[in-house]
Amino acid sequence: MNLHEYQAKDLLRAAGLPMQPGEVASSAAEAEAIARRAGGPVVVKAQVHAGGRGKAGGVKLAATPADARAAAGAILGMSIKGLTVERVLVADATEIAEEAYVGIIMDRASKAPVVMVSAAGGMEIETVAATTPERVRRLAVDPRYGLLPYEAADLAWFLYPDAARARAATEILRRLYDAFVACGASLVELNPLVTRPDRTLVAVDAKMVIDENALARHPEIAALRDEQAEDPSETAARRANLTFVKLDGTVGCVVNGAGLAMATMDLVKFYGGEPANFLDIGGSSNPEKVVQALQIITADPRVRVILFNIFGGITRTDDVANGIVQALAAHPLTVPLVIRLTGTNDVEAVAILAAHGLSAMTEMDAAVRKAVALATTPVAA
Ligand code: GDP
Ligand code: MN
Repeated sequence: MNLHEYQAKDLLRAAGLPMQPGEVASSAAEAEAIARRAGGPVVVKAQVHAGGRGKAGGVKLAATPADARAAAGAILGMSIKGLTVERVLVADATEIAEEAYVGIIMDRASKAPVVMVSAAGGMEIETVAATTPERVRRLAVDPRYGLLPYEAADLAWFLYPDAARARAATEILRRLYDAFVACGASLVELNPLVTRPDRTLVAVDAKMVIDENALARHPEIAALRDEQAEDPSETAARRANLTFVKLDGTVGCVVNGAGLAMATMDLVKFYGGEPANFLDIGGSSNPEKVVQALQIITADPRVRVILFNIFGGITRTDDVANGIVQALAAHPLTVPLVIRLTGTNDVEAVAILAAHGLSAMTEMDAAVRKAVALATTPVAA
């Protein structure tokens, strides 16, 4: 789950990190009032789940409350990378001498949290790593021990040549690592971590992604979810307890089990198609889940065909068949349906489908080929 900058800053401030102070506003008048209270220059910042807001015009310095109002007026409602700005953060403007990068990601290759630091902050770390890799230091942390004091100090001295900042950065790294673990984050970034003219450090931007599987332990973080900023189909799927990831293709996939869902997507691609989604309806026997899955998939106008691939183990294929029949009765499909099912109660399932004029295949390979052929057939004019 993505957090907004203001939410990440609040969490990290509570964890003892030096964060630029600020308040969130959803109207220009509110932004002006916050700026007036701040009593000095502010920076008005679009709160969307995207980086590169500065370049997109979503970060504006404002010298006076009136300027803050104008900046908020310009930024609110703006579209950044396809996301509409509903709120702005009005933060005390920071005087910047230098910008560094500090981040921690859960790295699958290292099977560990990896801390990354660079004195070349303010730009995307991927760009720095690609063009000047010697300016980035990475350290995989052994999760059994956490980030050890000497490791934090070593990274801090890579960032800063002077003892005062190296000491401050050591503390920042240790607290950031602790916050990363405590919050169940998969990513946390301070970019830029700013050096002020007086050589003190403050984080001017913060990004945090929380592992969905950690949210059950953190209701206070789960409550920060901004559904308006998420894809509506993913919200609907989460509410229906479906594991769903939206993709860009045309073959809608309804599969039981994550492994079979992955294999189905691989096979769709192998035969020249593009999956419209990853969807695991899980192992439960519940026709209602199938109804909801079909509603979510058919809401995507790009979907040209729907492919069911069900291997009945714990999942009873007759439940799936009933779900398909119920869903079609409520919302007739406008795209073709290809059903492959085999396993528990498949004789009953085929009979249920047949009674409603539907048929099922038993071979996955043939079903996927058929679905891809239907998806890639030109639409009749
Ligand atoms: P991003 O573009 O989405 O990463 O948003 P950032 O919050 O990182 O802002 C982008 C850039 O705007 C920063 O790298 C800074 O150079 C500049 N900026 C942001 N806040 C301030 C501020 O308080 N004072 C000054 N002088 N510049 C700022
Ligand atoms: Mn940034």
